[in-house]
Amino acid sequence: MRDNPSLFHAAATGLPVIPLFIVDTDLVKGIRSDGAVFDFQAECLRDLADGIEGLGGKLILRKGKLTEVFERIIGETHPGSVYFNMDYEPAAMDRDLAATKFLGRLGIEVKSFDDVVIHAPEEIRTSGGGPYSVFTPFAAKWRRLPKPSPLGKPSRISTPRLASDPIPGGKELGRERHIVTPFVSGGETNASKRWDSFLRERLRSYSDTRDLPYVHGTSKMSPYLRFGCISPARMYWDLAEMSLSSGRHPPVSAEKFVDELIWREFYTHVLYYFPYTAERNFRSQFDRLRWSFDEAAFEAWKDGKTGFPLVDAGMRQLNATGWMHNRVRMVTASFLTKDLFIDWRRGEEYFAAKLLDIEKASNVGGWQWSASTGVDPRPLRIFNPVIQSRRFDPDGMYIKEWVPELRNVPARYIHEPARMSPALQEETGLTAGKDYPFPIVDHRKSAEHFKGQYVKAKSGHRRTGSFR
Ligand SMILES: Cc1cc2nc3c(=O)[nH]c(=O)nc-3n(C[C@H](O)[C@H](O)[C@H](O)COP(=O)(O)OP(=O)(O)OC[C@H]3O[C@@H](n4cnc5c(N)ncnc54)[C@H](O)[C@@H]3O)c2cc1C
Repeated sequence: MRDNPSLFHAAATGLPVIPLFIVDTDLVKGIRSDGAVFDFQAECLRDLADGIEGLGGKLILRKGKLTEVFERIIGETHPGSVYFNMDYEPAAMDRDLAATKFLGRLGIEVKSFDDVVIHAPEEIRTSGGGPYSVFTPFAAKWRRLPKPSPLGKPSRISTPRLASDPIPGGKELGRERHIVTPFVSGGETNASKRWDSFLRERLRSYSDTRDLPYVHGTSKMSPYLRFGCISPARMYWDLAEMSLSSGRHPPVSAEKFVDELIWREFYTHVLYYFPYTAERNFRSQFDRLRWSFDEAAFEAWKDGKTGFPLVDAGMRQLNATGWMHNRVRMVTASFLTKDLFIDWRRGEEYFAAKLLDIEKASNVGGWQWSASTGVDPRPLRIFNPVIQSRRFDPDGMYIKEWVPELRNVPARYIHEPARMSPALQEETGLTAGKDYPFPIVDHRKSAEHFKGQYVKAKSGHRRTGSFR
């Protein structure tokens, strides 16, 4: 309700407003998400419906084939104007363009607004007028631009009497739910509560703790941003206000948090200008990489049974809750691509099915970054999963939370339990290879193999990817 510009401006006209949500059954068929993601969406919609009702209006939900439903409701209601908020994912852009053309043919005014990002991709261009493909100059430009102030709630909404379908969750949409304990519940009310408590209690230590998976140090606001329960503009201004006032929160934490919001907008920018990167390597010379099809290794990765405790903890956290800590996303993605040499697209697809915060741009961006096939210009980096584990989860607290069979393993061995002596294995009740797998690969050999393949691919001719 807050900072939803299309709803705000439509209501401000004083005319009747139809707040419309279409559940596009064809789109749902094409989305791989777990039932829990649709349940989360239903919670968001219920909260929105309550909010609209509180202002005198009604959320109208229709379910069916998008164009049929849309054309039917336009025919039923003959609106003077249609207002919507932009969505910069390539498929959504195509959809909105088709709808705009259809409305144009009927002589209906269309107005679009931005709320999903603070700066639309078109607003940020290099001095030559092109798009950015490197984060640092993009971020510098982003920071220099004036920021729009967030809008409040509409003061009143009046909706004509219209039929509405019930809000469907995963079950009604025919989705099985494998994620048993989602880490958050949906809706703007929950988003605001979480955000306020993060600002009060955790922002001050964010820059120190955000990389440590065993600390509850990040905001976990990602699904709320994804489903539009809070706007990045509101977050930006709250952070700005907090770091200017009181001085209780070191500005460095607020700055770091803004950096993360910029990463999100950077990836939106990259996918907007280089839509082919949703499916293909940003750097085309890496199309030459011949990925492995080791299905047993892929299954072990998905199930968190690789014998590398940090990787396994991350995958099990994802499977159980629909979220994984950012550091561990990087480690698990690096492990899939560089240790198992499995195509990043398969990992991206698996994350897309499980993440409650699934955003195509950030997911593809994160995966291509991890596979070193994307926009990041830094030299090849290969994470050592054991070193990452020692560095970011030194006592194995995160590992022990998600890999319960390792709970009795002393901190010294928690990153490599197979190194325990037979006597210690007996003492801790964990037989390596039986109760917990041996490492499924030798990291040193895998890294060498990846490096060799990568250097060979990189030295070949590079086709320049075109931008829109
Ligand atoms: C392989 C891989 C896949 C990823 N897939 C997704 C995805 O599908 N959806 C998604 O929202 N994020 C994705 N990320 C980015 C990041 O892991 C999550 O945004 C973050 O973990 C969300 O937790 P948080 O809200 O507690 O983050 P916080 O640290 O509290 O950050 C605040 C917000 O900034 C944004 N953000 C933070 N880090 C990043 C980042 N590296 N890239 C882009 N935005 C960021 C998110 O919107 C996040 O909610 C991915 C990262 C990797 C390495």
